[in-house]
Amino acid sequence: MRTVLITGSSRGIGAETARLFAKNGYNVYINYNKSEKAALSLLDELKDFSVHAVRADVSKSAEVEKMFSEIHGIDILVNNAGIAQTKLFTDITDDDWNNMISSNLSSAFYCCREALPYMIRQHFGRIINISSMWGQVGGSCEVHYSASKAGIIGLTKALAMEEGLSGITVNCIAPGVIKTDMTSNLSEDDFTALQDETPTNSIGTPFDIARAVLFLASDDSSFITGQVLGVNGGFVM
Ligand code: NAP
Repeated sequence: MRTVLITGSSRGIGAETARLFAKNGYNVYINYNKSEKAALSLLDELKDFSVHAVRADVSKSAEVEKMFSEIHGIDILVNNAGIAQTKLFTDITDDDWNNMISSNLSSAFYCCREALPYMIRQHFGRIINISSMWGQVGGSCEVHYSASKAGIIGLTKALAMEEGLSGITVNCIAPGVIKTDMTSNLSEDDFTALQDETPTNSIGTPFDIARAVLFLASDDSSFITGQVLGVNGGFVM
């Protein structure tokens, strides 16, 4: 049974990914930080499967190190934890910037660094990083978010180069607009406008992302590495 750790899986895309992996026979570690109630309720929902919960603020190196010491080796790492913030560029404070980069980018660095020695030893691993279409094309009033997500793309490509010979693939998913708590600041009118701009005329769901993650974690994707898979209804091509 392969073991997967999904960071930030108390809610949204991460929670849906945990559900899908659990139902597909993986041993799943749900990571959460602030939403303990949601994480424990997901654990209860999935009690018939092999699922565990582990708390860690993945923006902090020491907490990531402690989390990995409790897990004892994973086959698949999904770097999904992330935050968003909408602000004019000139209003972004040092704290906003540092919080964004540590939550969205350094978190992936810390988790990859902890996960890789085990993956290298067993000559198998899958790392799937969740970026964003705004990391591909840039989002207005989301410069720090876009920079963090573009950083995820750079990390993915460089690490894929380095780990190819070790049997480890590193890929990235760049979701489009997905209905979760993260986009709850958008009005119904905003969603309608975004849907109109999307070639499939639809808004994405966490399940759309989860099943792309499941594919990239599977043996069917063994010849795919260093790629950015846009799951966005064609919003960005
Ligand atoms: P969400 O509903 O706001 O959930 C975010 C998750 O990340 C929560 O489970 C949260 O856990 C966790 N998290 C945040 N900071 C963390 C930290 N420091 N340590 C551990 N966990 C942390 O967001 P989502 O929409 O599912 O987004 C998931 C990922 O997809 C993010 O990386 C996001 O940037 C990306 N994405 C989303 C969209 C979209 O439209 N929704 C589009 C493109 C990319 P706690 O609540 O337990 O702290």
